[in-house]
Amino acid sequence: MNTPPRTNGCMSPLDSFQIIGTIVFILEMVIFVTCYIPSFDYEEVVISASLQGLLFATVTAFWMLGTLSDPTDWLVKKYKRCSRETVESYFHQASLNTSDYTFCTACQSFASKRSKHCRRCNRCVLEFDHHCIWLNNCIGKDNYKFFAGVLVSVLLFSSSFISWCIYSFARFVNNFDTFRSAFSQVLDILCNVRQ
Ligand SMILES: [Zn+2]
Ligand SMILES: [Zn+2]
Repeated sequence: MNTPPRTNGCMSPLDSFQIIGTIVFILEMVIFVTCYIPSFDYEEVVISASLQGLLFATVTAFWMLGTLSDPTDWLVKKYKRCSRETVESYFHQASLNTSDYTFCTACQSFASKRSKHCRRCNRCVLEFDHHCIWLNNCIGKDNYKFFAGVLVSVLLFSSSFISWCIYSFARFVNNFDTFRSAFSQVLDILCNVRQ
């Protein structure tokens, strides 16, 4: 395995799900600003824009933290280029038992027994949970909190987006008579012009 280890989700190759997810997320915000906001009155604009803007910023912050974090096993990070003897002497000094650790042939380094080697990223990750296709990064002990933050904030952002969509549609239905009479007047004007 000669590919260099990846240290974050922005390193190539990017995942197509990561790109699609980012486009959909930005598209939701564009739809909100261009379709919902113009149909709201001033108070609704202030409330909805504040809430949706805050959730957008929260998702972006957790997404960046989750994508740019490096969950590689600290032993691999610290001792990758060191000889086996150097690592064993460190274990001896720190009163650590070498039997608690394993040697990863792919990383060519000692790693914790609680680590697992991710083939897609070519690195050992401490308490590996899974490789997230949306963040294009491994999820493990060091970045699980960011991944949980992404899950919760995306859920809130999407729920809020759908709620404003339903609210906007309900407003449209309530004001349908107004829309219909305005539409009829426009049609009348157009017909009179053609005659
Ligand atoms: Zn490894
Ligand atoms: Zn991975």
